[in-house]
Amino acid sequence: MGAVQNGWRKGASMKAGIHPDYHEITVHCACGSAFKTRSTYKAPLMRVEICSQCHPFFTGKQKLIDTAGRVERFQRKYEKAAQAQAAAKAKK
Ligand SMILES: [Zn+2]
Repeated sequence: MGAVQNGWRKGASMKAGIHPDYHEITVHCACGSAFKTRSTYKAPLMRVEICSQCHPFFTGKQKLIDTAGRVERFQRKYEKAAQAQAAAKAKK
């Protein structure tokens, strides 16, 4: 082990040896978005279930890993709960 992969781009600005297998990959998310990033991941394509487009931390929504129908049902339920909360607040 320790051999640098042939696919490694020579002349990259990063110092060799620190990230010998660090390269650009495409990430495909379950939500449908795709983006490029740099990773030590071996394959050029990585599939993930969550990304910055659908992560609750970034969107404030639940992640979309279920079928559309189930997500829609959940979102309707969620909206109802939000509306109920808003109504409860309005009463005060
Ligand atoms: Zn996503």
